[in-house]
Amino acid sequence: MLPQLLIKCLQIIKTQYQIIIYLLGALLGKSLTDWDDEEPVNKPYQKLQVDELPVIETLPRLDYRQLLVEYEQQHGKPLKPIKRHANTKTTVPDVLTCPQCQAPSAYVYANNGGKGQYQCKVCRCRFNHRSRFAKQVVFRCPHCLKTLEKIKERKDYHIHKCKNDDCSFYQANLRRMTPQEKEQFQHAPHAFKVRYIFREFLFDFKPLAPSSPIKTKVDVSRLSVSSHTLGLINYANSVALIIKPFVDRFPYELSGSFCGDETYIRVKGRWHYLFFMFDAVKKVVLSYRVSPNRDTWAAIRAIDDVLKKLPSIPEDLSLVVDGNPIYLLAQHFFAQHGISFDVHQVIGLTNEDPVSEEYRPLKQIIERFNRTFKGNYRPTHGFGAEEGSVSFVTLFVAYFNFLRPHSALEKRVPVVIPALERLPHMPARWAKLIAMAQEMLAQQAAS
Ligand SMILES: [Zn+2]
Ligand SMILES: [Zn+2]
Repeated sequence: MLPQLLIKCLQIIKTQYQIIIYLLGALLGKSLTDWDDEEPVNKPYQKLQVDELPVIETLPRLDYRQLLVEYEQQHGKPLKPIKRHANTKTTVPDVLTCPQCQAPSAYVYANNGGKGQYQCKVCRCRFNHRSRFAKQVVFRCPHCLKTLEKIKERKDYHIHKCKNDDCSFYQANLRRMTPQEKEQFQHAPHAFKVRYIFREFLFDFKPLAPSSPIKTKVDVSRLSVSSHTLGLINYANSVALIIKPFVDRFPYELSGSFCGDETYIRVKGRWHYLFFMFDAVKKVVLSYRVSPNRDTWAAIRAIDDVLKKLPSIPEDLSLVVDGNPIYLLAQHFFAQHGISFDVHQVIGLTNEDPVSEEYRPLKQIIERFNRTFKGNYRPTHGFGAEEGSVSFVTLFVAYFNFLRPHSALEKRVPVVIPALERLPHMPARWAKLIAMAQEMLAQQAAS
């Protein structure tokens, strides 16, 4: 009798769930026009050779206040600010400070008649108004230790190159060429990538910085009225807003081994990428960002979501990802900021290619997540707005982390919350989860 009852209940839950998904689609806006069910299968990413990390030397950070004190002790008189003549060519913008010691503009000389070369009177460093960051960090070729030369300035990054003809990397690449290639190289050297190259990213982004608190515009009190399943649907966007801080700030127990992948999601009739990162052992989703582009910037933010959840960066931190070079470029970006970790690129992790025994469990997690996600996502027919897709993905991740039993975890949910476990069915657990998320928001608002 009992098993039959259970089956009946499960069927009801399943039906309810399908209704929820259908209504989510209706509520969040579908883009039925130009909807094609074909998703871009194995859309190739830009093939790009990423060389290993350079040797990064950071110039010591100085403090002008301390330097001024030391000067006075040594010379028996304070170091005076610069006296400027009425000549406008030697004036310096007020906002300009020394990149090395932070001395204010009163201590900065305009070195070459206002053409952008400056010198600090306090620490004596010379700098250029536009290349302030480059002056603080020196990049050296990992093969010959010569300082790299900046050869290109793009919007988001600079390209640095090792121009040393004796560099072992360069020499080895030359030796590897066939006689035919050598011949071509003579005529068109730019068609070959033979020298060591490093991309310095200029994103205005501080890794591990606490993100601004998420404010919900929703009147939370309206939701507590028996947050029943149907209530959830009506408030899908609002619920996602309430659940998101809970999902993002939950004190997860993590393993130090993570994997990531991208999948596709339709927003306003265009394919977007859902970048997600998992704890490979605990099966917890830690990042789930929707991005219109499959680029380094998106990879950086996904990785940062994971790093922010770690109490400290472990020595053996490793990320397992597919062959996309954006993850290596992201690794270089973090190294620029003094945060290092290993990246294992596994071909076959996310496609049909065979994958080694070691990484098969990870492949299974990714496939499982993708299957579950697509199964739930397809009936929504894409989203009419960015917010809709974010709401959907947020609710999905809440479901995946806290509510959905996982076969690899002996049918346990990845994050066990006893208060949820005790409840008899999924709608009740959703309601409880929402209530807990609301409680957390209320506590944070009060503190
Ligand atoms: Zn200075
Ligand atoms: Zn070199």
